[in-house]
Amino acid sequence: MECHYPPSMESINREIEAHIHKNKELAQIFEVYKKVLTVQLNYLDSINISVDLSEDEIKDYFRNGQYLMSRQKFDINGNLYKKIIFSLCKAIKEASPGAPDSLHQLSDAEEFKDGNIEKLLDKVKLFSKRELEEFIIDREMERRTGVSGEIIAFVIFSALSPFYSLNMKETRKKVDFSIWRRGYCPICGQTAVIAKHRIEDGARVLHCWLCHAEWVYPRLECPYCDNKEQKQLRFFYVPGDKSRQVHVCEKCKKYLKTIDMKIMQKNVSLDVEAIATGYLDIVAKREGYRAPDETVLLN
Ligand SMILES: [Zn+2]
Ligand SMILES: [Zn+2]
Repeated sequence: MECHYPPSMESINREIEAHIHKNKELAQIFEVYKKVLTVQLNYLDSINISVDLSEDEIKDYFRNGQYLMSRQKFDINGNLYKKIIFSLCKAIKEASPGAPDSLHQLSDAEEFKDGNIEKLLDKVKLFSKRELEEFIIDREMERRTGVSGEIIAFVIFSALSPFYSLNMKETRKKVDFSIWRRGYCPICGQTAVIAKHRIEDGARVLHCWLCHAEWVYPRLECPYCDNKEQKQLRFFYVPGDKSRQVHVCEKCKKYLKTIDMKIMQKNVSLDVEAIATGYLDIVAKREGYRAPDETVLLN
């Protein structure tokens, strides 16, 4: 399987234009996305990643269902990380003038000071999106920085993404992800929230929004509860666009947005699709299904 990281900005721009052409309301969010992605891609050359684990060690993790970064000693240059945080905040502010001015000072927060960054990053690699947001609330970062927890979490993850993605790419040179069969990422552990049916053979490939790992997962199983009961698995789409689907499981009530590139007859960016298909999240939730990374509060 081919590795799609890093993406070409040219094709990303083309896809985004087409989406905005159909739905003008997406212009703002894609403006932020493009600026953030540009910062991330610009820093790739400054990042050095070497994967010290042997092929056998990596395979052992995978066989045990342990994502690599739960154990891997993985050093991130704190200074560089802080610089990326600063650049990202600047980019977000440029793309959305309504964002708070305090974004410019976010990189001065206690958490990003020398010595603290390493501790922060050690914790964050075990956090889901939600857990990071809770951590930010516990630490009262919103009050101290004047930036909302959601944006802080977005910035922290967006700054990590280039490091994680290069780690993914280096790891993949040693071991492909064919022995991994989980609903979460083999490298960074984040839950897959979008998938594709690949253009060549229609196989289902799950995608990690954070490190961009992609791995095959059987179409006739639920990635979140391993349900194989065919009667409890189905999919739907909005009439007129059969290539953008929502696959649901009646057992765990979770849904997975899926882009069928075989039907589409072209490869598109799942990061772009994840944003463009926000209407599918609305439909799925209205039908009583939960996003895969949502924690169960009731039932
Ligand atoms: Zn990942
Ligand atoms: Zn399920």
